[in-house]
Amino acid sequence: MSSSIIDFLATEARFGAHNYEPIGVVLSRGEGVWVWDTDSNRYLDCLSAYSAINQGHCHPKILAAMVEQAHRLTLTSRAFHNDQLAPFYEEIAALTGSHRVLPMNSGAEAVESAIKSVRKWGYEMKGVPDGQAEIIVCANNFHGRTLGIVGFSTDPVTRTHFGPFAPGFKIIAFGDAAALEEAITPNTVAFLVEPIQGEAGVIIPPAGYFTKVRELCTANNVMLVLDEIQTGLGRTGKLLAEQHEGIEADVTLLGKALSGGFYPVSAVLSNNEVLGTLRPGQHGSTFGGNPLACAVARAAMRVLVEEGMIENAASQGARFLEGLKDIRANTIREVRGRGLMLAVELHPEAGRARRYCEALQGKGILAKDTHEHTIRIAPPLVITSDQVDWALERFATTLTQDFS
Ligand SMILES: *Cc1c(COP(=O)(O)O)cnc(C)c1O
Repeated sequence: MSSSIIDFLATEARFGAHNYEPIGVVLSRGEGVWVWDTDSNRYLDCLSAYSAINQGHCHPKILAAMVEQAHRLTLTSRAFHNDQLAPFYEEIAALTGSHRVLPMNSGAEAVESAIKSVRKWGYEMKGVPDGQAEIIVCANNFHGRTLGIVGFSTDPVTRTHFGPFAPGFKIIAFGDAAALEEAITPNTVAFLVEPIQGEAGVIIPPAGYFTKVRELCTANNVMLVLDEIQTGLGRTGKLLAEQHEGIEADVTLLGKALSGGFYPVSAVLSNNEVLGTLRPGQHGSTFGGNPLACAVARAAMRVLVEEGMIENAASQGARFLEGLKDIRANTIREVRGRGLMLAVELHPEAGRARRYCEALQGKGILAKDTHEHTIRIAPPLVITSDQVDWALERFATTLTQDFS
């Protein structure tokens, strides 16, 4: 490590809140699938900022849209209209087949906004007695970091000593449709769930789960809220992960790659009813729907489709998954993935996944461990076959080492 890197780490440690434990690399530049550190070492980004960089680092067309808009108009607040909001609505609705859109900034804000909206829908449209609305969520969920959200997390690290928490949430097992059926009551307004649990370690539910979930929600007049903040926008090889089971959510949450990593942009997408219950003054955000965000998101959606990134995620994801499955290493317990949302789960005896991520860093790959024993792999969707093969060679040599 060079002295400049050590200085950066020391200064961060001295002044910053210690709420992250980053890998010891200081990045200063990115392009496509690659990032460079302050010593000009190059790395293949296999995290993509938790899937916010699906379009690749500093995509030139998104950059151009951002710069152009930044010269013209950045923020109006929603007290006035701006000329980017209407085309953004039109384009995101056409892309996703949604009827109404609520623009926000971070993913967690989209989740909070959805919770408020489905509760309001429950009281005003379903007839749930005021203050009684119930929302069902899954164990090992990850929906963000606000108080409302960590209150229904099952991860002690994220919730301990942050209470008291808001009531009204019921937690069931992920991937278990019978548990959902049992948990629904007349006061249930929504089921909030990730199509694939990302932070939990890329947990894919059994085939047919979401078909059954859709049936149960429809039969009981419960809004199905899919948090596609990580799985959406091409990551799994489809525009939305719900398409793998041919279902449609009532409410879909997007964030992360909605801006291609340039800017925090999120959105709640819904049928007419759920967002239709919001009236002026009842919800808002100073930055939500601002012209800079809308211009960036429009370009980010456009390049995703025009440059074939979704199809590429499907084909390169299949290649990556096959390659990982071909690695013969007794450190590996399971390899999972859909599209370019992949994970290698190690045997507990193989040592911490973090050690493997540090070894990968030494070979020019940045990946991130999750939950002690899982390495998550999620490169930008612009990755090529040669780059997948290059990465696979390095995964193979790393995974056959023993760090226990
Ligand atoms: C990242 C993420 C969020 C939270 O998004 P932020 O922009 O960090 O607030 C919510 N849900 C899922 C599934 C995520 O992956």
